[in-house]
Amino acid sequence: MTTGGLDTKIEALAQEDAVKNNVAKLFKQDIAAKDAENSVKTLLSWIGENPEREGLIDTPSRIIKSYTELFSGYKQDPEQILQKTFEDTEGFTGEVILKDIPFSSMCEHHMLPFIGKAHIAYMPAGRIVGLSKMARLVEIFARRLQVQERLTAQVSETLQKVLQPKGVAVIIEAEHYCLAMRGANKRNSVMITSHFSGVLEHDLEMRRHILDMLNR
Ligand SMILES: [Zn+2]
Repeated sequence: MTTGGLDTKIEALAQEDAVKNNVAKLFKQDIAAKDAENSVKTLLSWIGENPEREGLIDTPSRIIKSYTELFSGYKQDPEQILQKTFEDTEGFTGEVILKDIPFSSMCEHHMLPFIGKAHIAYMPAGRIVGLSKMARLVEIFARRLQVQERLTAQVSETLQKVLQPKGVAVIIEAEHYCLAMRGANKRNSVMITSHFSGVLEHDLEMRRHILDMLNR
């Protein structure tokens, strides 16, 4: 057996690596706003529009501007938001619940909105966090391309990791426009997801108590 076959294999692997690296670089590099606008122009032409007509001339730049806001979560660190905590809970042993946190996000499969409310409950183990920080946490993860299941888990797990409470419950309910406007065309269907961490993962009685509180 010659080493020729092996060399070819190594070369192929090296090439594969180079391709992967290039793809990684492509994702990392800052895409110029102009390039992004041109992509929107292409889409406008593709749907049968004239991107140069008066009503549409500024649409690409408007879309890029609104995407800057809708996807601002990529530039923010959710763990950082929770760093400022209060230690003095004076033996508080209950739970902290924040209901009806409104949010809007974009589904990663269709880049269409899903809009709804998040409910968060946690059982402090010494440290608590400002209520506005809980809302900010939802906001940061929602301002990224998402699936609702992951959004729910990310909010729950980040609270559990940074705050280290006894347990966290996150319930999210939302209407998905990819379901309401296209495909099955199902309006007003609400998707509900839940995620439990800490003791709530296994303590079903405690979980029921938290869910009762959330349903009040
Ligand atoms: Zn979708």
